[in-house]
Amino acid sequence: MKILILPGDDIGPEIMAPTKKALVALNKRFNLGFEFEEKSIGIDALKAEGTTLPDHVLKSAQAADGIILGPIGTFKYPPKEQGGINISAVLRMAMDLYANIRPAKTRPGVESMAKEMDLVVVRENTEGFYADRTMFAGTGEFMPTEDLAMSMRKITREGSRRIAVSAFELARTRRKKVTIVHKANVLKITDGLFLSVAQQVAADYPDVEVEDQIVDAMAALLIRKPETFDVIVATNMFGDILSDEAAELSGGLGLGGSINAGVDRAIAQAAHGSAPDIAGQGVANPSALMISAAMLMGWLAQKNGSNALAQASELFIKSVDSALANPANLTPDLKGLGSTDSFGKAVLNELDA
Ligand code: NAD
Repeated sequence: MKILILPGDDIGPEIMAPTKKALVALNKRFNLGFEFEEKSIGIDALKAEGTTLPDHVLKSAQAADGIILGPIGTFKYPPKEQGGINISAVLRMAMDLYANIRPAKTRPGVESMAKEMDLVVVRENTEGFYADRTMFAGTGEFMPTEDLAMSMRKITREGSRRIAVSAFELARTRRKKVTIVHKANVLKITDGLFLSVAQQVAADYPDVEVEDQIVDAMAALLIRKPETFDVIVATNMFGDILSDEAAELSGGLGLGGSINAGVDRAIAQAAHGSAPDIAGQGVANPSALMISAAMLMGWLAQKNGSNALAQASELFIKSVDSALANPANLTPDLKGLGSTDSFGKAVLNELDA
């Protein structure tokens, strides 16, 4: 099984190093048959090869069974014509990874704004407000005059259906509740379509409780009573924003794991960005990327019906949780004095325990 490692920008290589070590250890212990390939992307690739996403990396990505993608510093990238390709966008679109699954939960030992929460944001990943990637040719963001900038939002029936199905299927394995998030009171046509399709899908899941919330109220409710939510399904940008809010409520962005999943492909990618403010200091929290990698193993386990992968995924998450439960291991974002390296070693120790 080919696993492609793409460290990314800023803190990317720092958090990828301990994540890869943990994967190597799990591979050995559970005899998973992983073959690792590591390639440079982002600013390093731009300097060396003139593009943030060289063609050979895209080819390796298409051929890989699973990808671990580090955070990328898109804000610093030059325009596309000068090699600044948005790697997440291209990979998600090229492989049709329509479901971005982002869990957020409180964990023993981690101080959090939420007293208790255990939810998953299921974010549509291929359309919505992300106008740079919604067109067959050209971009949905444009500037008719120097004083007028416009952006188009795309919502499709099929895009809404398949993300709603992902959410309801996931809810069936959890506490059986789905909250549909929208702004159909204002965006009556686009969010109206998303909401009505999600409600039609809900009818196929009579065992799952369903409710809907307008996105602005949802932002408040998430803070007021996070423990009441189980699976939250949302269009692309609303899901992006709410999942960062949820991660922060659970303790911090450094805990926000995620996978981008399609029918037969998936990428592990932390929900957070490349954190240039702390890059190079050795203090970034690798938990989110580790949790993402564990989620990918769980996804691969289901796809391949592999017990070994399921056990490895479970042990990986358990080991991150155990490392987080000891205050001596925590990185500064979690008010600890630990480092990326010491946290990584703590997880490795837990894997061996
Ligand atoms: P960010 O998520 O990188 O950082 C926000 C805050 O959270 C910062 O204070 C940062 O230090 C902290 N933080 C994030 N991850 C952390 C970790 N693992 N450990 C400890 N602290 C952590 O968001 P930003 O500053 O708005 O964006 C920085 C860059 O990342 C931009 O170029 C942006 O375009 C890009 N970005 C990439 C992704 C992605 O690759 N999926 C997602 C969001 C933003």
